[in-house]
Formats: sequence, C-alpha cells, structure tokens
Amino acid sequence: MIIILLGPPGAGKGTQAKVLVEKLKIPHISTGDLLRQNVKNNTPFGIEARGYMEKGELVPDTLVNDMLLARIKVDDTKNGFILDGYPRNNAQAKILEDKLDKSDGIYVVYLQTSEPVVIQRLSGRRVCTKCGANFHLKNMPPKKEGICDICGGALYQRPDDHEETIKRRLDVYLKETASVVDYYDKKEMLYRISADDDPDIVVDKIIALAKPNRI
Ligand code: ADP
Ligand code: ZN
Repeated sequence: MIIILLGPPGAGKGTQAKVLVEKLKIPHISTGDLLRQNVKNNTPFGIEARGYMEKGELVPDTLVNDMLLARIKVDDTKNGFILDGYPRNNAQAKILEDKLDKSDGIYVVYLQTSEPVVIQRLSGRRVCTKCGANFHLKNMPPKKEGICDICGGALYQRPDDHEETIKRRLDVYLKETASVVDYYDKKEMLYRISADDDPDIVVDKIIALAKPNRI
C-alpha cells in the first residue's frame, strides 16, 4: 500500500504521516526530513540543498529524485510506504509513476485547507531536534516549554517557518505543486480530505480509504 500525501505546507502531512506509521506499520518517507538530515550532516546533497530550503524554494529535481529513488529501494518499503513532500511538481510525479507498481494500491490523499490555517500552524510549529516530533505553541504545546514530550530533546523553529519564508513556500506551492493535484485528479486517483479537523479524525479518514476494515 502506498499513500501519497498532498497538500500545502502546513496541511499536516507530517503529523498525519506519523500516526499512520503506527497504525499501518509502513515507513514514512518525507523528502523534507531526508533533506534536513542531509543538511544537518553536511552531505554533498545537504550542502547543495540548504540555500534553496532556507529561501522556501524547491530543491532541484535531479537531487531530490536521486535521493527519493534510493530511499524507496530500501527493504523496509516492501509492504509499502507513506510519501510526504513528494511529488512536488509534474516532472516528479512522472518519475514516481515509472517506479511504482500499479498493483500495489496507490492512494493519493489531498489534504485540503486554507491559507490562514496554514500560516497559523507553521508560524507556531516547533520541532524536536532529536526525534523530529512536531509541536505547536498553541495547538499542541509540549508539557515543558522547549522540551520534547517524547524524547526530552530540545525543540527548535525550522528556519523556513519564519513568516517571510512561509509566504514564499505558499507561493511556490501554488505555482508548482498545486498542479500535481490536477495530475492525479485527471487520473482519477485523488481523494480529497479536509485537513482542518483534528489529526485523529483526519487519520481515520485516510485509513478508511486505504483499509476500510481497519476502523
Ligand atoms: P513543507 O511541506 O512544510 O513545506 P517539507 O519539510 O516537505 O515542508 O519541505 C521543506 C523544503 O524541502 C521545501 O521547501 C523544499 O525546499 C524542500 N523539498 C522537500 N521536498 C521536495 C521535493 N519533492 N522537491 C523539491 N524540493 C523539496
Ligand atoms: Zn523528541
């Protein structure tokens, strides 16, 4: 089973994906997380990607495609995976299509939300430096300020979650990524779900699509 999560930055793709991992026992592959790991470790990928990411621009396809294709070959994906942050333009969607086995059951979920919600979510987001868990100053505050509930790691604000960069990411989304929604819609592969509800409700709706007998 392959679940592709689409939607603007701040739609909650990462949050939903983490719950889906628990319930479906398949790995979460986030190109944003993979890139941030590369940046942190100063790999050649990371060194090239950093500037684009900090500006809120897309990282060049060649780099992201190589990284993604290497990741989906790893053994832990044999029962499927949850894809978050990829594809982000139609060229990436075509690359992915060539690599996926149509008989796997591919569910493309479009998390619909509005711009004010997105800005509120992203500007208050805090992320654990150690385990990557997401918190929110208002919606999901950690029990102890600045500390991860799960692993005790320090929380930080992603450099691209500052207001100016959020606006740029939303522009890039509208210009480059919104067309991926049409791409899958035309192929009749798209499921639309409102992302404004609580994460638990959104996740149950996604599972109801992919595994109707699991709820
Ligand atoms: P969000 O969806 O909240 O914007 P992500 O963590 O998915 O955040 O991505 C962060 C950044 O990583 C993007 O702004 C972009 O620079 C880069 N990135 C992630 N995935 C891709 C991709 N598929 N193609 C190009 N750039 C990407
Ligand atoms: Zn943590």
